[in-house]
Formats: sequence, C-alpha cells, structure tokens
Amino acid sequence: MNHNNKFINLSFGVILVVFLLSALTFVFAVFLGVETFRIIFIILAIVLVLFVMLLFTGFTIINRILKKDENSSLQQDMSPFKKTLIHIALKVFMPFIITISNLFNYNKDQIRRVYIKANNEYVLSLNIKVEPEKLLVILPHCLQSSKCSYRIRNNLNECHQCGLCNISNIKDLVEKYSVNVGLATGGTAARKSIIDLKPEFVIAVACERDLTSGIMDVNRLPVYGILNERPNGPCKDTLVDTEQLETMIKHFTN
Ligand code: SF4
Repeated sequence: MNHNNKFINLSFGVILVVFLLSALTFVFAVFLGVETFRIIFIILAIVLVLFVMLLFTGFTIINRILKKDENSSLQQDMSPFKKTLIHIALKVFMPFIITISNLFNYNKDQIRRVYIKANNEYVLSLNIKVEPEKLLVILPHCLQSSKCSYRIRNNLNECHQCGLCNISNIKDLVEKYSVNVGLATGGTAARKSIIDLKPEFVIAVACERDLTSGIMDVNRLPVYGILNERPNGPCKDTLVDTEQLETMIKHFTN
C-alpha cells in the first residue's frame, strides 16, 4: 500500500484542483456581472499575448541556431543578452514544444535533436573549462557489443580492448585525458554517477530521448550531448563518433 501513496496523493490533488476550479466557475457564473467577466477576459488575453511573444522569441532564437554553420559551433562569441534568450528558449519554449510533440506523437526525435543542438550551443557559449577529474563522460550501456563476454562497469577496466566495439577506443580516451566515465543503463544510473562523482561538467552520449530527458533532469549542471548511432536498431550495439567525443573532452578540459 505504501508505495502507492504517491499515486494516491497525486490523484487526490488533481481531483481536488479540478473540483475547486468547477466550484469557482460556478460561483463566478452566479455572482459576477458581465463587466467583471469582461475584465477577466482582458487579463486572460494579455497573459496569452505575453505567452505568444515568449514563444515567438524562443522560436526565433532556436531557428537561428539551426541555421548556424555546424563547423562554426566551437567558436562561440555570444552577447550576454543572446545567452539569456537561448536560456529562456531552452527553459520555456523547447519544453513546451517537446510536450506538444510527445502528446501528438509528432516527429519526437527530430524535435528532441533540435533541443539537444540548442542546448549544446548554449553550453558552448558559456566557455566552460574544468579540471579533467571534474568532467564526467556518461555512456549508454548499449555501446558495449552484445557479443562481449565481459561485464563492463563504470571505469571500463573490464574491457579487454578486443576492438569489437567503441568501448575500446573510449577506454583509451578516458585514460589519455584522465576524465571520469560512467556506463549507464538508464536515467537512474546516470543520475547516480552524477551524485557519486559530483562532476562540474558532463558529456553525455545517448539517444534523442535519453539525452533530452537527462539534460532537462540535471537542471544546474551543464551537459553537452552527443547522439549515438544505432545501425542495429535501438539499444543494441550502438556506436559513437569517438573523434567528436575526443574533440569535446579537449574543448571542455583545462
Ligand atoms: S572492446 Fe571491450 S567491451 Fe567491446 S567487445 Fe571488446 S572487450 Fe567487450
């Protein structure tokens, strides 16, 4: 019974809120005059116009990021005003658009890719440099070959570097740059790595869905996202561009 408490609390809360709204609407309908309703609708219209302006600003700034030349991404020279606009777009506009795309099942991965790109641009604009031991690389478990007979844990020590999967190259990379690495089976394991290692910066490799939810989850920690490649379908023998991973490790470490 105890583990159902959250569900019961949430359901009760939602029903109570809807009940209060119904009661309020009834009271308004019975007791308020036409003039008061007019004022309420005017206030509602103003709030909606402000929200539309916020959405339009978010759309404009994200659209500019999309048109930007991919190769110029690492040269960031952004005004504080523009950084603030991107930050607002990432916090308000994109979550709103992602929720709508999830709700209507509309090109979810494409929308998430836009979010990841915009987030990466924002993170690059912060010009962050951390000590190698403060950088955590989070990898998805599906990077390990399904034919591998070793059980790879966080530090990749168990990898015998047979070369069958990307883990071999990544092991070399994390040793070369002395950065931390975590192999995550999902969001919970990724969060645990972050709590245990307390990094100041994260480079995460994952699919569109996991990267998007991961970046949104760790609100205050900057995360640079790298999409994995999935030639064998989702969650099986995935790949990552290790050159890109190395470039980003070098870029974000002192
Ligand atoms: S490179 Fe490492 S992890 Fe990948 S299959 Fe070989 S031993 Fe396993």
